Amino acid sequence: MRDPARPGAGNVPAVLPLETSVPRPYHGAMLDTRTVKAFADGFGGDVVRPGDPKYDAARAVWNGLVDRRPGLVVLPRGTADVVAALRFAREQDLVVAVRGGGHSIPGLSTCDDGIVIDLSRMRGAKIDPARRTAVCAGGALLSELDNAAQAVGLVCPVGVVSHTGVAGLTLGGGMGRLQRKFGLTIDNLRAVDLVTADGRVVRASADENPDLFWGVRGAGANFGVATSFEYGLHPLEHPITHGTVVHPIERAGELAQLFSETAEAGPDELWLGFYVRLALPAENFPPGIGGRPIAAVSVLHCGPPREAERDLAILRAFGPPVADSIEPKPHLVAQRLADEASAWGHRFYMKSAFLRGLPDELVDLTVQHAHGMPAGAGGEFGIWSWGRAIAEVPEDATAFTGRTAAYWMGAEIQWDDPALDGPSRGWARAGMADVARFATRGRYVNDVAESREDARAIYGDEKYERLVGLKRAWDPDNVFRMNQNIRP
Ligand code: FAD
Repeated sequence: MRDPARPGAGNVPAVLPLETSVPRPYHGAMLDTRTVKAFADGFGGDVVRPGDPKYDAARAVWNGLVDRRPGLVVLPRGTADVVAALRFAREQDLVVAVRGGGHSIPGLSTCDDGIVIDLSRMRGAKIDPARRTAVCAGGALLSELDNAAQAVGLVCPVGVVSHTGVAGLTLGGGMGRLQRKFGLTIDNLRAVDLVTADGRVVRASADENPDLFWGVRGAGANFGVATSFEYGLHPLEHPITHGTVVHPIERAGELAQLFSETAEAGPDELWLGFYVRLALPAENFPPGIGGRPIAAVSVLHCGPPREAERDLAILRAFGPPVADSIEPKPHLVAQRLADEASAWGHRFYMKSAFLRGLPDELVDLTVQHAHGMPAGAGGEFGIWSWGRAIAEVPEDATAFTGRTAAYWMGAEIQWDDPALDGPSRGWARAGMADVARFATRGRYVNDVAESREDARAIYGDEKYERLVGLKRAWDPDNVFRMNQNIRP
């Protein structure tokens, strides 16, 4: 999702009540000062309470729609602090929210009244160039992994906005523009260290707790606080080729056809996204385009630039574009291009699905809905090429669902005016409802903007039952419930 083709990112309904599987009192608001002081005095990290000057900054999350007031925000500096925070939370019967990068679309890394265990003091990525591995701390951002890996000519396939958290992205799956070549982020995950609900520090990998490792790769927010992630890396030493060609909306159908043919015939190195959105008046388009819908194809080719030029020639021959920004550039430049448009604090909502194919009717529907976007909001339909290395991993190898689809599709919308909350959500919901008949099985858990979504519908019956077994084994009291929740 969220490629530079889009005007920005967006967010979630702060107002949705969060679901709890067992009714429990939210005691955080009632924590007395002496109890908190006793905890804080022995805690290695920082503790922020309501009324502290840093409280409003500490409770803010990426999505401007989310406005929750935790009873306590704690910022551990290491695993021992995480264990201590979790022990305190359980003693005080607090709802626990775990925060990595804070980019959860429904705001699941914060809560009202309970405790937020914010890992933003546990940052950094260490690379072993000889083994081609990276170890990231539980609060690391994608930029840290990207920068450290590229400094030695290596790369891990992650997402497309560099301030996203490594933790949440990985625990849900990890989509991006290198995935047709290298697989999902979880397909490159070697091991995760977790603090479990009972305060144990465990490792999940193919050799240690392999059952837990299965569940962590797609439903990972349910099983513990991840304090470190180990990834396998791949060589990427030359510039990648990246950018977007924009065409008038009247050519959307033909462009979609070309997009799907190129995705099918192109190499694993080639990622493509087809977009329908409104051209913003502020964008530097020729007269007559601003404010009208446009169709675009974004690409990232991670092969040598000469091969990219050859593989993209058909796209270049499509006819004179309204704009064309495709060119070789350092991978890190492409990774940061959407950062500003997806900055913290805007309001955002999205819905997504995996698609069987790309029929003309679906493309027509996106064009119709693009005309109906609420004025003042920036939204888009994005359709990503899928498959290849993603589909080479068997569907039942991880908890992630949706490997066998032909495309991923999302409707994303971002706005700032609270008066647009209803119309913006409505726009994305209506657009995706209209194309639901073209969807295939699977849902990407990290795209689910509703905090009350039924996790069974995301994972399907078989995987959900297996996840329930894991939840009963590792978190029978459902301490980790601020997620798309597997009920023990
Ligand atoms: P957080 O809000 O911190 O956490 C998300 C969930 O993970 C919460 O349930 C939280 O409790 C849990 N969690 C966080 N850290 C830990 C931890 N250390 N241990 C255990 N549980 C933890 N996804 C993609 O796949 N590809 C993309 O290109 C992409 N782009 C995005 C761009 C933007 C601007 C945004 C907002 C989201 C994007 N996403 C993308 C979705 C993203 O993967 C999810 O929002 C993800 O959950 C964010 O991770 P985080 O650590 O920042 O989130």
